[in-house]
Amino acid sequence: MLPAETPVPLALLIVSCAVTVIVALRYLLTSGVFAMITARVRPGLYAGRGEQIGRELRWSLLSAAIYGVPAGIVLWGWRHHDWTLITADWAALPWWYHPFSVLIYLFVQDTCFYWSHRWMHRPKWFRIAHAVHHQSRPPTAWTAMSFHPIEAVTGAVVVPVLVFLVPIHISMLGIVLTVATVMGVTNHMGWEMFPRWIVHSPLGHWLITASHHERHHEDYQCNFGLYFRLWDRWCGTDKGLSRRIVAEAGHGEQAVLS
Ligand SMILES: [Zn+2]
Ligand SMILES: [Zn+2]
Repeated sequence: MLPAETPVPLALLIVSCAVTVIVALRYLLTSGVFAMITARVRPGLYAGRGEQIGRELRWSLLSAAIYGVPAGIVLWGWRHHDWTLITADWAALPWWYHPFSVLIYLFVQDTCFYWSHRWMHRPKWFRIAHAVHHQSRPPTAWTAMSFHPIEAVTGAVVVPVLVFLVPIHISMLGIVLTVATVMGVTNHMGWEMFPRWIVHSPLGHWLITASHHERHHEDYQCNFGLYFRLWDRWCGTDKGLSRRIVAEAGHGEQAVLS
């Protein structure tokens, strides 16, 4: 990736900057695409919100650097020193383990997010670290990475630590990062993109989509999860779905409670 004689501090700087740019472009592209889709399917939803979106962009691009540095160090360590448990060889792990590894990564991310998120809703830490994210009222497709640097650090370290503990194929890691990116954007964009037969199916009742996370941005002290409703249900913090989003999606009044 870099010439072998490159001094380590310079190599880490170059790789961290490169990954920061990739994370920033990934955010701009994904949020931009879903903002364009929003303008088509919910015209006027973001009208008059230019100032909020500008603020979300600034915080998100700062977050991209905070995500880029640990990811860059891990990438460099993987390519040059084989430090991590990431593999590019499909046969290095059993076939059944590949989808299972995706679930492990998502579950651990979800668990870390749930508990750090609840912690950041304590009054002192909310003021210091989490108020930035809740300044978006209601959120938009650009809110996905709009975090205070302290909150960004809590999210940025999870996968870089996991790759030292839980083996994963590089393609499965790509799926994890794609799910994280797409769900981070779509859960904030202010409308439900999944059909009723998914959101209100037995499986859908355990998954977090925009209908669920919007309720967190409306009521604050509930619905703290990231991908799954497991911890919210186990800990009694699940308050169901956003009435506005469910109504606008045409999913029916009864659906809010489930
Ligand atoms: Zn949020
Ligand atoms: Zn919150």
